[in-house]
Amino acid sequence: MRSFVPGEGYSEVKNIAVLKNLGAALVNGGAGFLGSHLCERLLLRGHSVICLDNFSTGRRANVEHLTSHPHFRIIEHDVRQPFDIEASLIFNFASPASPPDYQRDPVGTLLTNVLGAVNTLDCARKTGAIVVQSSTSEVYGDPTQSPQRESYCGNVNSIGPRACYDEGKRSAETLFFDYHRTYGVDIKVGRIFNTYGPRMRLDDGRVVSNFIVQALRNTDLTIYGDGQQTRSFCYVDDLVEGFLRFSAAGSTCHGPINLGNPGEFTVRRLAEIIRDLTNSRSRIVHLPAVVDDPRQRRPDISRAMTELGWQPQIELEAGLARTVEYFDGLLAGPERAEAV
Ligand code: NAD
Ligand code: UDP
Repeated sequence: MRSFVPGEGYSEVKNIAVLKNLGAALVNGGAGFLGSHLCERLLLRGHSVICLDNFSTGRRANVEHLTSHPHFRIIEHDVRQPFDIEASLIFNFASPASPPDYQRDPVGTLLTNVLGAVNTLDCARKTGAIVVQSSTSEVYGDPTQSPQRESYCGNVNSIGPRACYDEGKRSAETLFFDYHRTYGVDIKVGRIFNTYGPRMRLDDGRVVSNFIVQALRNTDLTIYGDGQQTRSFCYVDDLVEGFLRFSAAGSTCHGPINLGNPGEFTVRRLAEIIRDLTNSRSRIVHLPAVVDDPRQRRPDISRAMTELGWQPQIELEAGLARTVEYFDGLLAGPERAEAV
């Protein structure tokens, strides 16, 4: 394990003068898109935060502004290897999440999810930490029921190109519940539905970042297939709020709990909204469909509403506007050269 020497540039959370000292929170995958927002919110809440990451799909830039905070630390480590870190709360967010990312090294993806879960749970078992898993709507595969309730067991093709991720996440859920039943580990399993927002990579490959970057560059918006497949898009701040509430929920609340925005949109409609929002001259074009692409996805969030008092607050267009602003800034800045 290698600790990262904190640098300058801490800005967004600079007005936290006094920490409430809520104890240490470990965020595996803390330099990623979601993990970095989670680190920030945990610091704001008064936790000291350890960000553990191997920087495979995450970036130091995502947490650079936190590095001069006295209660923030980065540990460079791969969750496939065991680790022993004292924390009262652990969030396991370490896994590639974008289809091109997780399909680039499918064996590595599966092992990250399975061994990462084992090593995270072993760490929690030793320290007595509450341990929160970032599971996914992909456990439902190509669903035959909509909206998807937590009781639905899913429809995953175990030998397809998405299986390394889907089955990795399903196995991780099994490990979480078996560690709970066998060793009494206090687990929380949240199933995340498509979440977007600032700090997604320009080349992340997921639909929201692809369409926004394409629209801002006035290049073709690339729909895979007929565009009639649906997704439900949740803004990152809402998602993080859901996880924070879940992590603080009572010791009988283990999930799984769907966390996502129930508003359902076709991919075609998303392309049109983004094109309008950016006043883009882009055309909307169709490319071949991807294998095993789920046709529909929409969370039933009644459990989250009842057990966590949570539901998303940010409408799609408002969240997209903030995300467009972020990518606009990125394309105007020093990353432009490498991005274009
Ligand atoms: P991301 O790729 O931005 O973040 C993942 C982070 O994990 C990165 O910082 C990466 O470097 C790190 N990581 C990957 N493999 C690792 C390993 N072996 N050891 C240590 N660190 C490793 O993706 P994200 O969108 O922020 O997703 C975070 C988590 O949420 C993932 O577990 C993902 O499966 C889950 N999730 C995300 C979404 C979404 O819509 N964003 C949906 C469902 C589930
Ligand atoms: N998609 C698309 N064009 C893109 C990227 C994605 O049409 O440039 C489609 C993709 O085929 C899927 C949906 O958008 O139907 C969501 O894809 P994403 O990779 O964002 O997430 P996931 O498939 O994991 O839900």
